[in-house]
Amino acid sequence: MHSGRRPRAPRALQVAALTLIGACSSFTPTNDHSFRPPAEYRAWFAKTQACSGLQGDFDRIQWYIVDGTEFDCPGGKCVGRWNSDHSIFISQAWTSNEMVVRHEMLHDLLGVPGHPDPPFGNPCPLTWATWKGADSTATATPPIAGRAVGTGTPNID
Ligand SMILES: [Zn+2]
Repeated sequence: MHSGRRPRAPRALQVAALTLIGACSSFTPTNDHSFRPPAEYRAWFAKTQACSGLQGDFDRIQWYIVDGTEFDCPGGKCVGRWNSDHSIFISQAWTSNEMVVRHEMLHDLLGVPGHPDPPFGNPCPLTWATWKGADSTATATPPIAGRAVGTGTPNID
């Protein structure tokens, strides 16, 4: 009887399936709609200013809803995206998610697209790994999975 063992094939020929779309310096998603932020957003902005110690101007932010659960962005697929011209895009499915919305607000307060820590993570837990939910007394929990949509930790630019 044959042993069934096979020599292991080298994995050097693995091909990355990622398709990166470059040259997206001026980002504008399709199917976006300007919208007036709900009153709740103003409260979230105040909380984000408080945790970061930064001062911004809520009324200069241009808000856009993008149809669906996520949209194409320079990093792949996003549920939220901030642009340096003070525009913020949120996918329709995530417009009431405090972490996603406040994450984008913190970008606007900082004026940079990256996630320097501080203030991302500490003192503002506005990342998937650090968000503890609206209950600030909760202890650290694993990253949110399968919430709202089943994609685990969607990209928030
Ligand atoms: Zn971000």
